[in-house]
Amino acid sequence: MKKKKSNYLILKNVNLIDCNTDHVQRNMTISIRNGIIEKIVKEGELEISEDAKIITLSGKTVIPGLIDSHVHLFQSGVDDFMKPYAERLINKFERNCWLTIRSGVTTVRNMPGGRGYKIFKYRDKVKKGEIIGPRILASGPAITVPYSYFSILSYLPFSSFLRFFIERLFRIRGLSIDANNEREAKEVVRRLKREGVDFIKTITPGSNYPYAEDENIKSELLDKGLKKEQIEASMQPKILRAISEEANKLDLKVVCHNIYGTKGFSEAVKAGADSIEHSPMGLLSEETFNLMKEKEVYWVPTAYAIYNWKNIIDNPEIYETEEMKELVPEPFHSFGRKCLQKVRDDIENGGFWSEFYNEVEIFKQEYFPTNISIAIEKGVKIVAGVDCGAGGAGYIPHGQLHKELELYVTNGMGEFDALQTATKNAAELLGKIDELGTIEEGKVGDIVVLDSNPLENISNLKSINLVIKEGDIVFSKKESF
Ligand SMILES: [Zn+2]
Repeated sequence: MKKKKSNYLILKNVNLIDCNTDHVQRNMTISIRNGIIEKIVKEGELEISEDAKIITLSGKTVIPGLIDSHVHLFQSGVDDFMKPYAERLINKFERNCWLTIRSGVTTVRNMPGGRGYKIFKYRDKVKKGEIIGPRILASGPAITVPYSYFSILSYLPFSSFLRFFIERLFRIRGLSIDANNEREAKEVVRRLKREGVDFIKTITPGSNYPYAEDENIKSELLDKGLKKEQIEASMQPKILRAISEEANKLDLKVVCHNIYGTKGFSEAVKAGADSIEHSPMGLLSEETFNLMKEKEVYWVPTAYAIYNWKNIIDNPEIYETEEMKELVPEPFHSFGRKCLQKVRDDIENGGFWSEFYNEVEIFKQEYFPTNISIAIEKGVKIVAGVDCGAGGAGYIPHGQLHKELELYVTNGMGEFDALQTATKNAAELLGKIDELGTIEEGKVGDIVVLDSNPLENISNLKSINLVIKEGDIVFSKKESF
């Protein structure tokens, strides 16, 4: 679909949810000039000049462009990094951008994956309008410690000579950077700033291998050929603190991938993270939630990915729908099927995945519902992220933001609050609240037009009619704009 330039766009007779308040303002007119929202007035109050492109949208609901704060645009929702030559990276990127923006998501925070530094070039192509896609805030490589999560040593723990070739063969150069101590960590933050990152991605303390305290599992892992350093590696709070301090000075936010448990999660809150990504397998303490509230640390649960993983494992037919085949095209779809079957076999045989599988059931029944209800009660800011693109324990393709929000609502969050996790709260976390996240005069003209009201049912977010980014219609249900 081609992008059309319209310098002056007028949306007439809409029902507006500006996302500052839950009040629906009926019969409104919004004008967007040169990408910026110029006027929001009652229907009939705007003097319309001839150069305007006018769209009458009676009965439609208008919300701010959505923000997905945790995506991997270089992955398709399976472990496709294992098939590096199956498709040109640019093609995959363009497809995933398209799937994202047509779902109403006009801004994303992109996490590492693919080739760490390539994202900056592609981010700028989207910015210039050469690729249709969401506005991208990119992290570049994640900062980790040797042998820990994301560390190249953790995946390739052999000679540096071999690593050199394999990193290039699998195009994983730039996925992560190891920091041995505080001084190195600060240096990496400065280097990433120079490279052009929009934020810093790192990890919480905690073991890379969950359950590794269990001696049986530890010996199983050692038997599998893992090194002791790999099993025991963990980000130290003092290194995390150094990363946060340096990032703060450079006006960069710090995003912490939570490895697994609750301890590392709360250590990261104390060490100065701006957001903690993913949900722990366990119950967070009241103290942690109080501290998050006090220090304004955001939580990006990405919980749907975990639910989705178990759902697909239990019900193979979910993976075989036409919709999935469109979202995850060949050869990746077939490859994903094989990987999933291996996991199912491993669970059947009581292998490594079976522990995780059992834990996910408790996660669904207890950990997540309890944690999110306490977070809601305490007023901890939650921001929606789906982990779109992630394989592993996610298997979630692009364009699924509504599913994360549905999960919040089924766990006790109101529809309006859920909508704010993907608009206003997210813009605050991204440091972009002056431009994005709500519909106000002077803000960027990112707007989604829906056929039905999401405050009546959050699933109405699927009823996308138009997606407008910076005043340009980038997706239309009718394909005729
Ligand atoms: Zn992720």
